[in-house]
Amino acid sequence: MESLKGKTAVITGSSRGIGRGCALVLARYGCNIVINYVESSEKAQEVAEEITGLGVESLVVRADVSREQDVKSMIGSAISTFGGIDILVNNAGIHQHLKTWELSLEDWNRVIATNLTGVFLCSREAVSHMKKVGSGSIINISSCVAFTGTDHEIHYASTKAGILGFTKSLALEVASYNIRVNAVSPGFFATDMVLPLITSEEMKSLETKIPLGRLGAPEDIGNAVAFLASDRAQYITGEVLHVNGGLIMY
Ligand code: NAP
Repeated sequence: MESLKGKTAVITGSSRGIGRGCALVLARYGCNIVINYVESSEKAQEVAEEITGLGVESLVVRADVSREQDVKSMIGSAISTFGGIDILVNNAGIHQHLKTWELSLEDWNRVIATNLTGVFLCSREAVSHMKKVGSGSIINISSCVAFTGTDHEIHYASTKAGILGFTKSLALEVASYNIRVNAVSPGFFATDMVLPLITSEEMKSLETKIPLGRLGAPEDIGNAVAFLASDRAQYITGEVLHVNGGLIMY
């Protein structure tokens, strides 16, 4: 992973959970990190302190990925602070545990705006810069529910499936600029998104359904992201890497 040393990575939604895990793994490999959050200012600062302890630099940026102006200024700050962006991890996401008939149009639009429009806005800004330098790697965080469906959050599943089409289309558009675009599809991970929804008994039952016997840890996604961002994946683009402990097999 020597190729990651000195690179700059923007990781959306890296104040907590999977984004934080990605930030810490990439920092351990020597990347400077742009930590993004929308509400958790203190948690983002804590991640920055951990990263400083790893001997690399970080920049904390509050930006709502669904807002065009926020995204433009986040990417602009990243470029002016570190001189460029080499890696973008589109990780920020929200969900909502409701049936289709319980969803308002506002619910639907909010999830689409964060999980899918946010990926478009951040990728568009990053690609404009990466095209000029002739290299870059974008990694989009999808979900296993893009493949399996889910019976309680159709808007969320729709965004995660949309990310797969987005990934392949952008990969085709930017391959000639030496920019690679891939997706990572997590199974179940022990984060704030999942833990409040399940009791400890349900957790035990879920673990028995996962062939590797445990929920994922954020750094499991960080390791997959680091591989895809590195030169070891230099011939991989438009792909989806499943990281789910064997939960779904095809
Ligand atoms: P999480 O613990 O709830 O963390 C979500 C992160 O996204 C936080 O850093 C949050 O920032 C940020 N965020 C939310 N809305 C944002 C916005 N509008 N602009 C910028 N940042 C925003 O979630 P997670 O479990 O780590 O999930 C991370 C990604 O993995 C998501 O895309 C999720 O869909 C995907 N995923 C998760 C699982 C799982 O099992 N956990 C499974 C499959 C896929 P604040 O802290 O400031 O609120």
